[in-house]
Amino acid sequence: MKVMKFGGTSVGSVKSILSLKKIVETEARTQPVVVVVSALDGITDRLIATSKMAQQGDEHYREEFDAMVTRHHQMIEAIITDEKKRIDLFNNVDSLFDQLKSIYYGVYLIHDLSKKTEDTIVSYGERLSSHIVAAMVKNGVRMNSRDFIRTEKKQGKHVVIMEETTQLVKEAFKDLSDKHIYVVPGFIARDSETHETTNLGRGGSDYTASIIAAVLNAECLEIWTDVDGFMTADPKVIKTAYTINELSYVEAMELCNFGAKVIYPPTIYPVCVKNIPIKVKNTFNPEHPGTLIKDKIEDDNKPIKGISSIKGTSLIT
Ligand code: ADP
Ligand code: ASP
Ligand code: MG
Repeated sequence: MKVMKFGGTSVGSVKSILSLKKIVETEARTQPVVVVVSALDGITDRLIATSKMAQQGDEHYREEFDAMVTRHHQMIEAIITDEKKRIDLFNNVDSLFDQLKSIYYGVYLIHDLSKKTEDTIVSYGERLSSHIVAAMVKNGVRMNSRDFIRTEKKQGKHVVIMEETTQLVKEAFKDLSDKHIYVVPGFIARDSETHETTNLGRGGSDYTASIIAAVLNAECLEIWTDVDGFMTADPKVIKTAYTINELSYVEAMELCNFGAKVIYPPTIYPVCVKNIPIKVKNTFNPEHPGTLIKDKIEDDNKPIKGISSIKGTSLIT
C-alpha cells in the first residue's frame, strides 16, 4: 500500500484538485491507497486571521467567513457533477460551517481566543477539504484522523503519543482494501486525556502521512506538492534551483530542519526507522520523476547537495 499526501496548493484550485483525482485513482487501480490532505491553499492562514478579527470585535470577520464559505462552495460546484453526491457534500460542509460560525460568534462576543479555541478553529480547514476530496474520488471513504492521531501536552506543545497512535491507526485501517480510497485530514489530532481537538503544528499534514505510512508499513510515502521535488534551494527564492534526484534521510532531515519547507521536519523520522522511501512529487507536473529520499544513495561526489535558509533567526554559538 501507499500513502499519498497532497498539500494546500494541490487541493487549492479546480485544476490541481482534478489532477489529484487522476493521480490517486490511477494508483488505486493496483493497490490500497491512503490519501492525506491539507486544507485548501491559504485557508489555515485565513481561519487564524478571521479569528483574530473576531477577537478584536471587528465585525468584518463575517465577510472573511463568508468568503471562505463561498470558496468551498465554488470548489464543490466545479468538481462534483453527481447531484446526489453534491447535495450530501453541501450538507456535510454546511453543517461544519454552521459550527464554525457559532464558534467565531462566541469569540466575537467575549473577545477571547484561547489556544484551545484557536486549535478548534484551524481544524476546520482539513475537516472541510477531506470531505470534498472523499466525495470527489472514486469509492472515497473519509477517515477521521482525530480518532487515531493522539497527542499529549509537553512544554506547551502537542506531541504525538506514538504507542497509542500506532494501536489506533492499526485498528482504524485493519480492513484496508483496494476497493476504497481512504481520505484522511492531515494536521489535526486529539488530546488523549481531554479529547480536545489539537494539531501537529503548521505544515503538519506531512507528519500525519508519515505516521500512517510507518504504522501500515507502506511501500512508499509520497509527498505531492507544487514544485518538481526537493530542490537545491527554495525555487521561490533561487530561480535557478533544480531538482535533486536522490537524497538520503539524513541529508533531507538536515535541509528540512534548516528551512527547506517542502517537508515538515518531524516527517522524516517515522518512515526512516522503517526504511520506507519518500517520494516528493509535483501535482502540477506528475510526469516529472521528482525526488527519492531513502537510506543509502549512490555517492555522486557532490559535497554540497542543497542550500536552505531560515528567515529572522539568530544563532548564538
Ligand atoms: P504544501 O502545501 O504542498 O505542503 P509547502 O508550501 O509546505 O507545500 O512546501 C512547498 C514549498 O516549499 C515550495 O513551493 C517551495 O517554495 C518551498 N521550498 C523551500 N525549500 C525548498 C526546496 N529545497 N525544494 C523544494 N521546495 C522548497
Ligand atoms: N493546513 C495546515 C497548515 O497550513 C497543515 C498543512 O498544510 O500541512 O499549516
Ligand atoms: Mg507543507
